[in-house]
Amino acid sequence: MLEPRLPTGRAAPRGVFAMPIDGGEGGAAGEIDVRPAELGQSGGFQPLVVVHGGAGAPMTWLDGCTHAAEAGAAVLKNGLDALSAAIASVIALEADGRFNAGLGASLKLDGDAVEMDAAVMDSTGRLGAVAALQDVRHPVLAARAVADTAHWLLVGDGAREFAARCSLTGNHEPSARARERYAEVVSELARFWCESPDADLPLRRFWNYALPWDEALKKWGCGTVGAVVRDATGQLAVATSTGGAVPALRGRVGDTPIIGSGFYAGPRAAVAVTGAGEQIVRTLLANTVYRWIETGLPPADALKQGLALFPPDVDIGIIAVSERESAGLSSRGMPWCQAAV
Ligand code: ASP
Repeated sequence: MLEPRLPTGRAAPRGVFAMPIDGGEGGAAGEIDVRPAELGQSGGFQPLVVVHGGAGAPMTWLDGCTHAAEAGAAVLKNGLDALSAAIASVIALEADGRFNAGLGASLKLDGDAVEMDAAVMDSTGRLGAVAALQDVRHPVLAARAVADTAHWLLVGDGAREFAARCSLTGNHEPSARARERYAEVVSELARFWCESPDADLPLRRFWNYALPWDEALKKWGCGTVGAVVRDATGQLAVATSTGGAVPALRGRVGDTPIIGSGFYAGPRAAVAVTGAGEQIVRTLLANTVYRWIETGLPPADALKQGLALFPPDVDIGIIAVSERESAGLSSRGMPWCQAAV
């Protein structure tokens, strides 16, 4: 298990710092000009944005994370709250086109459908999520809109209709990167199934796309984007967004929009998770890490304990911010960075 390049578990220096978990090729992006902001009336809380680009995403995409962290930091600098900043960071990642979220969200196995999940939560109790949502460029905004309703989670067609009423739907064309990834997936998966003819049985038996199975051999791909933020008043927030895992049945929902699994925020911390959704939900990972931090464990240690719940070959990444500290960690590699304002 590899450590972040910069130390965690203490106050971050001001500026935007990239923290490639593999400590290698991704390289640090260095400090970006983010000027100090005034602390709020309650004082004493250092505004901070921590962003990740998905477990298993290449370190060459680190620039997208630093841009997103900077977007969140700019929002904090303008005096808006932690939730607004987390959403601004996720919007930047959804618009990037490389990450598996928003514009870059993976195509499902029919080569056509894009189903996305997103969630937001903060320490004041605001909570909203969407799952299996189509035709929306920024699912995180749909999740934010759900937080203003009497519900916390909307899915599928109902979520799409809700997003349309919020003027969030539109022509959502998959990015070039999503199409490239799809082509790679098809050829890899075809090879995989030739070599292991029984491996696809559950998917084949329950296949529920219009496109016949045999025409729909595709590859796996996954990734999620996320941000956790602390503002100058001490509010903590999390926002996440994903195109989900591939291969998957139509309607599959992973951990990302599920409270306590892919995300959690409360008075003591905000936690965002990425990786193998079907395994993450079984550990309620975000809530588990939150509870450890709540009982006094430093975030860096809580993340290490969280990763230790999984076999080392499972892709898992976690970022967290507490009242005073922050940390990020992944089992294999994950571009992430933090911006202190
Ligand atoms: N956790 C996401 C999901 O299972 C995928 C990922 O983060 O890689 O949908």
